[in-house]
Amino acid sequence: MTATSAVSAARTILTRLHDVMASRQHAQAKLNTVVEVIGEGLDSEVCSIYLLREGMLELFATRGLAQEAVHVTRMAIGEGLVGTIGENIDSLNLAEATAHPDFSYRPETGEEKFHSFAGVPIVRRERAVGVLCVQHVDPRRYEEVEIEALQTVAMVLSELISNAALVDEEEVAGLSAQLTGPQHLAGLALVKGLAAGVAVYHQPRITIEHVMADDRDAELQRVYLAFDKMREQIERMAAQAEFGVGGEHEEVLETYKMFAYDEGWSRRIIEAIDSGLTAEAAIERVQQRTRMRMRQIDDPLLADRMHDLEDLSNRLLRIVSGQMGTAASMGLRQDSILIARNLGPAELLEYDKRRLKGVVLEEGSLTAHVVIVARAMGIPVLGRVRGLRGMVRDGDPLLLDADKGTVVVRPLPTVSEAFEARFVKNKERQAAYAALRDVEPFTRDGTRITVMMNAGLRDDMPSLALSGADGVGLFRTEFQFLVSATLPQRERQTRLYRDVLDVAGDKPVVFRTVDIGGDKILPYLRHNDGEHEENPAMGWRALRVALEREGLLKVQARALLEAAAGKTLNVMFPMVSEPWEFDAARAVFESQRSYLKNQKKKLPEAIRYGAMLEVPALAEQLDLLAPKLSFLSIGTNDLTQFLFAADRSNPKLAERYDWLSPAILRFLRRVPQAVVGHNVDITVCGEMGGRRLEALALMGIGIRRLSITPAAVGPIKELVRKVDLAEIGEAMNQWLAAPPPSLREALVQWAQDRGIETD
Ligand code: PEP
Ligand code: MG
Repeated sequence: MTATSAVSAARTILTRLHDVMASRQHAQAKLNTVVEVIGEGLDSEVCSIYLLREGMLELFATRGLAQEAVHVTRMAIGEGLVGTIGENIDSLNLAEATAHPDFSYRPETGEEKFHSFAGVPIVRRERAVGVLCVQHVDPRRYEEVEIEALQTVAMVLSELISNAALVDEEEVAGLSAQLTGPQHLAGLALVKGLAAGVAVYHQPRITIEHVMADDRDAELQRVYLAFDKMREQIERMAAQAEFGVGGEHEEVLETYKMFAYDEGWSRRIIEAIDSGLTAEAAIERVQQRTRMRMRQIDDPLLADRMHDLEDLSNRLLRIVSGQMGTAASMGLRQDSILIARNLGPAELLEYDKRRLKGVVLEEGSLTAHVVIVARAMGIPVLGRVRGLRGMVRDGDPLLLDADKGTVVVRPLPTVSEAFEARFVKNKERQAAYAALRDVEPFTRDGTRITVMMNAGLRDDMPSLALSGADGVGLFRTEFQFLVSATLPQRERQTRLYRDVLDVAGDKPVVFRTVDIGGDKILPYLRHNDGEHEENPAMGWRALRVALEREGLLKVQARALLEAAAGKTLNVMFPMVSEPWEFDAARAVFESQRSYLKNQKKKLPEAIRYGAMLEVPALAEQLDLLAPKLSFLSIGTNDLTQFLFAADRSNPKLAERYDWLSPAILRFLRRVPQAVVGHNVDITVCGEMGGRRLEALALMGIGIRRLSITPAAVGPIKELVRKVDLAEIGEAMNQWLAAPPPSLREALVQWAQDRGIETD
């Protein structure tokens, strides 16, 4: 069949299906007509429709196979060719059906004389609700255009199935029990906490209600208009002055532009409309084809590009259907829990904090910046929930228990009640922590542990008083850069730092100079000279950028020095890899100090310089750096990713290595030893320090200062007061000398024996 004849065949079939849909026939009679129409149209000896019923794909109608098999032949999902199509939601095209490993022979059908086989899934709401297939006596592979014609027909069938009540709509929904009954999904707790609310998709899913067009010209008009609008949007985005010039966002937009004007893409959509589809269905149809191609592509770069096209296709679909933007731009109407594959930190910040109660992600990892932002906002996050988006519908009630790492979808009333009880208990716990707010954390043997908090936004600062933390041990200044549409000018920076110091009062604040790059990409800053970085976490980031873009660091130095006038300025540099980098950064600050002094400006009373230990290499030169340092802050998020060579933002690695590994703890234990004799404060400021077992281990290896997420301050203070340092020190020494099979389990047992809660 040629391309033109396949298109015209699809069109003829659609026209005839239109009549079938409109007719007053009984459901079964309709299906019987449908297989005849398709069989004739595609000139195939066999055409069969299987529909999902009670979890099985049942032969509902056939032309060419034995009629006795109808409603008798049933395949489980994943069983035989039909079941495989249903499971993978992907087509099969086979010259010799029996040669396929999944082929399962059903004698009642009389299909042995047919050799070739092609089948496509009938999809509704992203699930296979049936399978449409054709067979021929002659062994032949079907042309791509024929498969596409089948797919187009399958789209129409999915509408026909629901509209003509071939399968009761209730039952269609019920076909996947997962979408109606309660579901317990498990994931990785990224930010602890409990939340209840309705599911809101970050990128709302567009349901296509009408597949077959009544007026082809009107559909063409709609899609032409949508193309114009989409291209306009892309042009506008590219032209926006605030994006600045250069950088990878330009490349992205260039690619977008290229696809937006791609003749092949628009032609395929127009062809699909020509065959009788609505504009929405045509876009979706072409997108399905893209997805199919993506699955076959092994080249990640090319796959990425195809992904751009998918994004663009979503945009086009939104324009044509009149739905635009993410859920944030439409506003949340009630207590909501956000559902997404992944999110960026800035995207999260667009949401209304009062109504956003939780986030559930298909991906995500503990140290991703979106998680850090969520923590600052006090929003529980559950990540790595596999198959999430297939299980949850927009508007489904959800109970998120990020303490236990679960989310209940469409809970039963009894479950909701139990949840409510936990909610109350949780509040009581919070109250207990709040009572510790003004209690200083001394260990049982009388050592004062410094418990500070991490922050990055103005909004984080109220937590300082609420948690009773000893100060801000890490202020991530890049957050201002991340949430701004343009590079924050010096005045804006100064204002933020001054506000932060004002709120902190007598408590110290450690400002970290910008750590951009890695997973913190600024759209408006050309930070890698347009070069694609294979490994951005190990690439041009943090101090490496700041030293090369000296202007950036100078501005920040001035802002910090001015903001801290008359006070103590604590400043630290991220990702110091060699001592000279620290020297160079400090020199920038010192020259700004001299400048301000010459200008007769008021200076900070004192400046304390510190470095972050995040790059393992620095540990080998700490003795050289120590004399110059006032403090050292161990960033275990980055440090451990480099120690284990395990990307901190790769969800596949999120649980692979344990912070309580002897390798990490032995490494960390050497740090305080390396600066002995120098007056250097050592703090751990990675996420590790905010977890009780990990904090216990850290105290056991000599760490006395922690800077942690505000929510962990209460629990960690409570822990500190139960610990005897000599005792845990002794236990750690023994475990690190001869590590038990699981240090984590050993610690849990140790804590339990002493009545110390650790979860
Ligand atoms: C770290 O790497 O541990 C750290 C505290 O810095 P960030 O998480 O901002 O990279
Ligand atoms: Mg870091």
